Amino acid sequence: MLDFNQLYTVFGGGLLQLAQPLPIIHLLTDSRKLSQPAGTLFFAIRGRYNDGHKYLHQLYLQGVRQFVVEQGDAAELRQRYPEANLLQVPDSLAALQQLAAWHRSRFQIPVVGITGSNGKTIVKEWLAQLLSPDELTVKSPRSYNSQLGVPLSVWQMDQNHTFAIFEAGISQPGEMEKLQRVIQPTLGIFTNIGSAHDEGFASHQQKVAEKLQLFKGVDLLFYCADHTLVHEAVQAEGIKSFTWSRTQAADVTISGTSTVGHKTIIVFKWQGRKERLAIPFTDEASVENALHCVAFLLYRNLPLSEIQDRLDRLHPVAMRLEMKEAINSCYLIDDTYNNDLAGLAIALDLLMNQPQRGRHTVILSDLLESGLPEEKLYRQVAELVQARGVERLIAIGEKVSRYSSLFSVPTEFYTSTADFLAQFQPAQFRNELILVKGARVFEFEKIVQAFQQKVHGTVLEVNLDALVHNLNYYRSKLAPDVRLMVMVKAFAYGSGSFEVANLLQFHRVDYLAVAYADEGVMLRENGITLPIMVMNPSPDSFAKLRQYTLEPEIYSAEQLEAFVSSLEKGAPSKIHLKLDTGMHRLGFTAEDFDALFILLQQHPQVQVVSAFSHLAGADEAVHNDFSQQQISQFRGMAAEVEARLGYSVIKHILNSAGIVRFPEHQLDMVRLGIGIYGVEATGTAQEALRPVSTLKTTVSQVKQIKQGETVGYSRKGMAASDTTIATIAIGYADGYDRRFSNGVGHVLIHGQRCPLIGNVCMDMCMVDVTGLPVKAGDEAIVFGPRLTLVELAKSIGTIPYELLTNVSSRVKRIFYAE
Ligand SMILES: *Cc1c(COP(=O)(O)O)cnc(C)c1O
Repeated sequence: MLDFNQLYTVFGGGLLQLAQPLPIIHLLTDSRKLSQPAGTLFFAIRGRYNDGHKYLHQLYLQGVRQFVVEQGDAAELRQRYPEANLLQVPDSLAALQQLAAWHRSRFQIPVVGITGSNGKTIVKEWLAQLLSPDELTVKSPRSYNSQLGVPLSVWQMDQNHTFAIFEAGISQPGEMEKLQRVIQPTLGIFTNIGSAHDEGFASHQQKVAEKLQLFKGVDLLFYCADHTLVHEAVQAEGIKSFTWSRTQAADVTISGTSTVGHKTIIVFKWQGRKERLAIPFTDEASVENALHCVAFLLYRNLPLSEIQDRLDRLHPVAMRLEMKEAINSCYLIDDTYNNDLAGLAIALDLLMNQPQRGRHTVILSDLLESGLPEEKLYRQVAELVQARGVERLIAIGEKVSRYSSLFSVPTEFYTSTADFLAQFQPAQFRNELILVKGARVFEFEKIVQAFQQKVHGTVLEVNLDALVHNLNYYRSKLAPDVRLMVMVKAFAYGSGSFEVANLLQFHRVDYLAVAYADEGVMLRENGITLPIMVMNPSPDSFAKLRQYTLEPEIYSAEQLEAFVSSLEKGAPSKIHLKLDTGMHRLGFTAEDFDALFILLQQHPQVQVVSAFSHLAGADEAVHNDFSQQQISQFRGMAAEVEARLGYSVIKHILNSAGIVRFPEHQLDMVRLGIGIYGVEATGTAQEALRPVSTLKTTVSQVKQIKQGETVGYSRKGMAASDTTIATIAIGYADGYDRRFSNGVGHVLIHGQRCPLIGNVCMDMCMVDVTGLPVKAGDEAIVFGPRLTLVELAKSIGTIPYELLTNVSSRVKRIFYAE
């Protein structure tokens, strides 16, 4: 095992202090993911949005004693962290990669490197599964394929592994070479080339050339020769290859493909003979992913019958972790594809980010193919579960049951899934967040089914990763000391409430704002501790503000008077002053100042935390002059506020559009709203954001109507010719605007635009699906990444804000991370 002493020999740097000899077992780059301080080496990495150096102190307090840093004065670091081993390097991320590369070079096993635009994770998971009877495979957890994820993946390699599969993903030139040095693949799979990350490259050729860097030293590269760009580049580079193709002679030449039920039959020539295999999928992407795996198994000379057996057991890979509503007010995170230590850690992080969902329960199967000795493995599992605050564990399997004594978290043990289900009593689960994580063979989908509640057909899916992406985009626009307030009024613009607030708290924003006191109370009751501003507090809510430490916006002297008279004499409290600079909604004008400051002088216990104003037209360039005028007026008024108060306050005026349009006026804080929910209000940087919400419903019935027949209320929909219509389960009571009636709106079914026919009803509407193979139960997308809020809002003359916040509360919200 490596110890800190030797690190120095691996990547040099300046050894600032060697306080004690310690082994290096865990590598940590995100302070929030600490689970076992002893044996942890923390790399302080400076990223685009955050800086690991900020968390050294906290980690030291939590018991971490080994650090790799870039910055800091040696003497000061030694003094602050007397018991720590400290190494200083020019680039912490590069050091992490070097350490992983060093670790990798200690193993002589086959290592498969996978890259390509799509399918990397699925090919990796399937190949590992297909090889599992013969090999003990170590692989990247989920989609850990970045500059940071790859070294952490490779670090998992251990003496017991016989095979390794790592994926590599890049977004700009120069990155793959670094990943190649870490992975050092002996075999390669190039899945395909598409448009992902196009923006980082001059051309597809350049992207292919860059990706090929991964395969510099491989013995053999697997790919589909029908991807011409890939094929030509591989040939030009002279990389030894193993190909499959539908159009030309290849190692595996496919001569026919047909669909039979849920399977795709592939006829192909292999070693001079005509053979066939059935792939248990029919969609194109899955068939391509499976064919890469088939090529690999053929190269390994597995008998055809054996390949078929193993293919039959493949299942779709869930690419994201979903949080679903379940029985008895429980929520369920369904992660039933595979179960290994790294995947468990990732899933537990998601659990940890949702502290309000009641008790945290984990249902866990045996961990298969970890490569670790069993006792060591289950000891690590027990530590991880404990460190992540799991309150109840249900362990299923003979192996984990054998190590019951290692678990300190309250645990029930069952020998099999059937054993658990036989004793399952729904009433024993209430108000819990339950992570269901099991290896494929345990068929935990049966457990998921037992917990699941049937949801009414319409759901709003909220992508938590997209929220974080958007948050980071706006953060990257902010000068270093500018604070960030995020608006979570109106159920976080319809996207949930404490779920979103949770995430913002986890990602350390400075302030939240809501419209009404009740919204703030709900956040507090769900454990949100960030400061919260309430923009429209009514006098009857003042007591609640105090009780829940919520900070009111004050916009008039009368309101301030009512507020202070509600306070106990002398009780301190914080307020925010709203100044009217031209919006003419709420706020003080300069004329109101005398009355305001007389009151404030009489009540020095009332502290003005901030002064702010709101732009009336930041989203439209035509109003730029007016916005500038508002800003300069605000600066003047805020200066007067500070002068009269005799202390300084946080000054803020920019909303989402303002952040993009007036970067020079960020002042002390900005107020981010619609942007974090994925709509860029100025319309100039929409592509920098990711859509957050998808509103989906299902088809209830499909029917044929004759030319001239009418559809729906008032007989507004008229069939111009014989027409197939689908009735979908969304209406204006769900928030689907009635202005979409009669061909104005459309939904996506099977990716095709289907126009509305007739009027939108209360709970349903009808769409024209003529010529499409639509059937009851199919999914219909009302808005989402491919049918944008911006476009839909425009079509009915409103704004995305209205469409988002109108989604009714009866529509279930489903939160997921990718
Ligand atoms: C809603 C709101 C914001 C956020 O506006 P967006 O356009 O959604 O960014 C900022 N400030 C105030 C006072 C608001 O009411």
